[in-house]
Amino acid sequence: MLKDIDRIFTNIYGLNDCTLAGALSRGDWDGTKSILERGNDTIIDEMKVSGLRGRGGAGFSTGMKWSFMPKVVGDRPHYLVINADEGEPGTCKDRDILRNDPHKLIEGALIAGFTMRAHAAYCYVRGEFFREAEALQRAVDEAYAAGLIGKNACGSGWKFDFHIHMGAGAYICGEESALIQSLEGKKGQPRLKPPFPANVGAWGCPTTVNNVESIAVVPAILRRGPGWFSDLGKPNNTGTKLFNISGHVNTPCTVEEEMGIPLKELIEKHGGGVRGGWDNLLAVIPGGASVPMLKKEVCETITMDFDALSAVKSGLGTAAVMVMDKSTDVIAAITRLSKFYRHESCGQCTPCREGTGWMWRMMERMKIGNATIDEIDLLEEVSRQIEGHTICALGDAAAWPVQGLIKNFRPLMEERITQYQAAQANAAE
Ligand code: SF4
Repeated sequence: MLKDIDRIFTNIYGLNDCTLAGALSRGDWDGTKSILERGNDTIIDEMKVSGLRGRGGAGFSTGMKWSFMPKVVGDRPHYLVINADEGEPGTCKDRDILRNDPHKLIEGALIAGFTMRAHAAYCYVRGEFFREAEALQRAVDEAYAAGLIGKNACGSGWKFDFHIHMGAGAYICGEESALIQSLEGKKGQPRLKPPFPANVGAWGCPTTVNNVESIAVVPAILRRGPGWFSDLGKPNNTGTKLFNISGHVNTPCTVEEEMGIPLKELIEKHGGGVRGGWDNLLAVIPGGASVPMLKKEVCETITMDFDALSAVKSGLGTAAVMVMDKSTDVIAAITRLSKFYRHESCGQCTPCREGTGWMWRMMERMKIGNATIDEIDLLEEVSRQIEGHTICALGDAAAWPVQGLIKNFRPLMEERITQYQAAQANAAE
């Protein structure tokens, strides 16, 4: 269990003063200038050594991502874009940072921006997060007034501006290239890659898009040392992480824990246990709606990190743990997710635009058993035709929950079909 001394987000519940005075008392903005004085290359090296992997879901090395930005600023300015769209169902961590610990994000943005030679950061906040954006704006105003950002950020001689941009609530705008499109005032639709944002990003300029949590942990890593961070967690899965625990647990919560904590421990210690006891557990979606679910047998021993979860063909994603007890109609639950993805498809790619609709309509029939056993294979085939055949990962995200359902609960699907057919035959008689 994470020791309090290693906790990065010391005000994630908003129990203490969220203003700059409170942030300063918790150690934020302490020695920021001296961190910047280490220079771009040293900071990137330290980020690589820390092992931080992006907290938005993809899990790519943050230090590596920063190193992709051009080393020299040409005729195009560099930008840092912070992804605060947080549309993944079950995920509710970034909003807590925005409203309760915003100075960690702003300080992290300054360091990241400086490292990537960006004089401006754009924080793209999901449209529904109106209060969170207000809280962030208050913190930004405080940081400007105190000279922590602005013309001479922290007295470093580096000019740095922080802008907040409100989205309009489209899930797909959490995808980095769709987010950039939306930021530019266009329809939020993913772009084909390459070119990647580090070459051609916002307004055609070199851009790095990072998740809120990834940026907010940067000051602590550089202040306490990359070795401190990499000693936490597991090899290749280092540091701490904000986990969201929701669904059929006794005390749903957001909690910071070490990477690699056993899922069972997370649920039992922080989620207050499964409703009705551990034996009442049916399945868990471990990383937000887009990763395949895990059956109880796997949940007994699995640890919460990128590598362990991908080894069982699921994923850490955003670390949003959704717990389902035995009262759950798991086919109906996945049908609901299929409906969500169908609704959120931006419509550019045929496999996603058409396929998500096919899957949802088939799932609606599977939900009541109005299908044939063969159609389970057909459903799987449709999901495989979507997966990996689209511009962005929404296609995969739509396919994986369905694949997880078939893999783990095929007998239940078959039973429901058989029951439906028997009921129809009885009615006909
Ligand atoms: Fe749009 Fe879906 Fe294609 Fe992504 S996969 S670009 S959401 S149609």
